[in-house]
Amino acid sequence: MQLANYIRDIQGFPKEGILFKDITPLLIDQKARKECLEILVSSLRDKKIDKVIGVESRGFFFGMLIAQELNVGFVPVRKPNKLPYDTISASYELEYGSDRLEIHTDAICKGDRVLIHDDVLATGGTAKAVCELVEQLGGEIVQFNFLMELSFLNGRDRIKGYDIFAAITY
Ligand code: IMP
Repeated sequence: MQLANYIRDIQGFPKEGILFKDITPLLIDQKARKECLEILVSSLRDKKIDKVIGVESRGFFFGMLIAQELNVGFVPVRKPNKLPYDTISASYELEYGSDRLEIHTDAICKGDRVLIHDDVLATGGTAKAVCELVEQLGGEIVQFNFLMELSFLNGRDRIKGYDIFAAITY
């Protein structure tokens, strides 16, 4: 299976000048989705991960599947004012705008070994913000795990020193 065949380029979404990587063809195809999941988790089974974080919203899809496959907890990191319990937050910049991300204060325990999953690593601003949230709660980041890395945006530079995995690199 060629994973890239299930990622669709949408020109001009959500605004002009953006070439958006759409993963919905991958989500809809059960066989491709299963193979993709295996690619994402294959190096993780012996890493003693305690929690998988999925970043709102496209990080929820495979984040939850990875957590299920590894038989560990899933933690949503969400946009502001979506989480109902006590939260901490971190600011981040996107390819198209800026915002804040939040996590429940009881979602990560001190010493938890954490996997951070999102669909795309672009400029790395989102990943860096999630990194701050996890470390503020005392978690240890085992890996940043992405479906896609847009390497020309140098997102890796923002999360230097961490293990970074991407199933597809553009
Ligand atoms: P970054 O903070 O610039 O690394 O952007 C990563 C975040 O923006 C991720 O949460 C992605 O979901 C989203 N994102 C950026 N570019 C794309 C894209 O081309 N397709 C889908 N999501 C994207």
